[in-house]
Amino acid sequence: MFNIFILFGVFLVPFISEAKIIETAKIAEVIPLIDAETWFLVDLDNTFFEAKQALGHANWFYDEVQQRMQYGMTREEAIQDAYPLFIKTQKVCPVKPLEQDFVSALIAFQNEGVVVMGLTHRQPSVADSTLRQVASLKFDFLITAPSKETFSVPAKNPTLYTGGVFFVGDCNKKGELFLPFLSIIDQKPKKIVFIDDKRKNVEEMEILSSMGIEYIGVHYTAIEEAKPIYSHELAEFQYKFLDQIMSNEAAQVLIDHHIEQ
Ligand SMILES: [Mg+2]
Repeated sequence: MFNIFILFGVFLVPFISEAKIIETAKIAEVIPLIDAETWFLVDLDNTFFEAKQALGHANWFYDEVQQRMQYGMTREEAIQDAYPLFIKTQKVCPVKPLEQDFVSALIAFQNEGVVVMGLTHRQPSVADSTLRQVASLKFDFLITAPSKETFSVPAKNPTLYTGGVFFVGDCNKKGELFLPFLSIIDQKPKKIVFIDDKRKNVEEMEILSSMGIEYIGVHYTAIEEAKPIYSHELAEFQYKFLDQIMSNEAAQVLIDHHIEQ
């Protein structure tokens, strides 16, 4: 038995790299963790951006899913059922950064040649809308993305890598799909820093260290400190205006009261 442990020690230890997780609400605290050989992976919802209004906000979508689960759907069924609504809202949903200097920090990394890519639980069906939202913040993941190609990584549910963003889908795990992604593009970074507002997502990626990749997970808490954008009542009201042709009279009333959508 003792010999087996020695054997494991000798053969496994050289392949296991360091992994750690930190918690911060400030991108400035992430900057010193990244050097020229680091890949910086960036979650989108509630990390890179959030919706400017209640309807279409990630927290609105989570609430829609939660409500369906309370009526007896499984999480997967609830996501499937709510997704058409998410697709529809993202087509017109404006976004904003959680921190003013977040995008400029990413651009500075790109200028230094650091690989920066998006890693999101969003599904391939919102890829076009998502890349438009990213572009609206004057950012392009493709500039130093690890691949300029578009392809999918085989998984239980559909995935898509496009525009420098890996759309893992809600029902797949980021931690399980990132290693297959690396083998498709045939690259192995020395170090990865991954920022995400959900602790379980950054914890899942600790598996990278077993591949000899130095890993730092950043549990990014800016959304918890930001002024809440989502309210159920506001989102319900906004939804009424989403695809209705408004009568001239109603439009005039809103214009006269300076109420804009
Ligand atoms: Mg997120």
